Amino acid sequence: MRPLGVTLQRWHMCRILKRHPIPHHVWKSVTRCILLFNRLNPFQMAHLREMTTWFLHQKTIIGVQGLEVTLPMKVTVAAQACLLIQNLGVTYFDGWVEVILYPGAFRVNHLQQDDMGLVPNEARVLAGESWLRGPVILSWEDVERDSYQYQAGHHVVLHEFAHKLDGLNGTTNGMPPLRRGMSRKRWAAALSTSYEALCRQVTTGKSTFINPYAATSPAEFFAVLSEYYFTAPNILKKCCPSVHQQLSSFYQ
Ligand SMILES: [Zn+2]
Repeated sequence: MRPLGVTLQRWHMCRILKRHPIPHHVWKSVTRCILLFNRLNPFQMAHLREMTTWFLHQKTIIGVQGLEVTLPMKVTVAAQACLLIQNLGVTYFDGWVEVILYPGAFRVNHLQQDDMGLVPNEARVLAGESWLRGPVILSWEDVERDSYQYQAGHHVVLHEFAHKLDGLNGTTNGMPPLRRGMSRKRWAAALSTSYEALCRQVTTGKSTFINPYAATSPAEFFAVLSEYYFTAPNILKKCCPSVHQQLSSFYQ
């Protein structure tokens, strides 16, 4: 017998697909130009379309600073985000609802706790940001660029939504809830060994094959290596084979 929860979820998904379909011409015109989808077969594309439809129904994508967000823009973001959860399931995007699009890179000046209380951090200019249990914030200019001509290991949508998978269990530490059958011990061993090796390379000034930003924290390591997994799997396989293996088991 099928568990009731799964049946209800499927029924809910069917209702969404029937009542809120993405028009065929929009889906075709958006997805045929997106580099990430070049390697997907028709079956995978059909599945991705279902998940994108669900995403657009469940999440809100809004523009700020005068950016008008059209349906093709929403599909561009949602479809690439859903590539991460294509084989994990929609529950991996639970716990948040909003995506905010800026026209370009945006400036942040977060408060930080120190001995004096809350003080402003140094201002930074970002292409994307993901808040734990809060919105994903993206620069549309960077989303567009990565959609059509990403560089190996650079993809802002994959990066920020990978943080969402990581944060699903309440904290971002490079350990998302793993699939059934995967070992937390093996995951932690593979990722921490490669993370520490990268940190050593960065601190000793050696050149790295992986974007050195990954050495910022275990959470950034997971997000950056997820970008490599989808955009440059061969580099990842060569530099960090054990991480590649773990990410293959996770993302499938
Ligand atoms: Zn990050």
